[in-house]
Amino acid sequence: MEEKKTTEPVSEQAVMTVKDLRTALKTRQGILYPVDGVSLEIPKGKIIGLVGESGCGKSMMANSIMNLLPKNGYVAEGSILFQGKELTTCSKEERRKLSGNRITLIFQDPMTSLNPVIRVGKQVEEVLKLHKNLSKEEAKKTVIQMFTDMGIPEPERRYYSFPHELSGGLRQRVMISAAMICRPDLLIADEPTTALDVTIEAQILKKMKTLQKEEGTSVLLITHDLGVVAEVCDLVYVMYAGKIVEAADVRELFHHPRHPYTEGLLNSLPSRNRGRRLRSIPGVVPILTEMPEGCRFAPRCPYATDACRQKQPEMRQVGDSHQVRCVLDRELISEGGEANG
Ligand code: SF4
Repeated sequence: MEEKKTTEPVSEQAVMTVKDLRTALKTRQGILYPVDGVSLEIPKGKIIGLVGESGCGKSMMANSIMNLLPKNGYVAEGSILFQGKELTTCSKEERRKLSGNRITLIFQDPMTSLNPVIRVGKQVEEVLKLHKNLSKEEAKKTVIQMFTDMGIPEPERRYYSFPHELSGGLRQRVMISAAMICRPDLLIADEPTTALDVTIEAQILKKMKTLQKEEGTSVLLITHDLGVVAEVCDLVYVMYAGKIVEAADVRELFHHPRHPYTEGLLNSLPSRNRGRRLRSIPGVVPILTEMPEGCRFAPRCPYATDACRQKQPEMRQVGDSHQVRCVLDRELISEGGEANG
């Protein structure tokens, strides 16, 4: 296939389109960009994975979309279009209407969004009543059903618990219930299952899938775990040092990775490398004040050449649903041995 340079997103039908987004942080060392020219598209009714190690800019990306940046942070350039509405310039009132109803967010730490002095059932019910016209009885029934679906044991009793009376895992499931109960158009989940054990994780991912299938909800799932991506995602964006370095549909990415960083992430996946020695990627994500010249992955890349260190590679189309930011012109065979089928 003929390759061409592109910065266009993968698909055309989108509930959200992010284009050339740059998020800035004002610091003593100057203006830094944890999100540096990111374009991505979230098609309607699809689950999109945004993957990378911690410190690569994934959470800052979610916070830019939700307008939850720290005091010294701001969107410096680019656009975030949600169902035709530009979020970077819309009013606080318009944002408030969208948040909690059409776009919801799940954080990794549930205590950031649960009120410690209100019973958890009431908190989820309040979210529901704010956005849906239901009687008290109907609302309570819906909350208890959601708690049941989330695998919360004794849901009627837990309805009356305060957050501090629940384990971390149960609090997380309460928060996920609150985010899903209004059946949002877009759910942004930032490492939602990282603190949970694998059985509960599987239950929550299954619920996310159901919401996608039955309600057409789109999900942006932010995670460091490619295993989770393999379970539920349709499309994957791999992020490194503030930039998207590879984007593909999930099968394509797992079977035909093109970026050495993706290859490294795949080689460190236990489920893919049974019986083989797992290899972690040497080195760490560069800090914002010390971004390398040229390709940002070059200091950790086994294929780096002098040319890579001089010029930042552009994102290139290498297949119908596949883009990569790397000069290498071939598929990489990860140690799982599946790259060429
Ligand atoms: Fe490695 Fe060069 Fe590709 Fe960067 S451009 S990922 S250094 S091969």
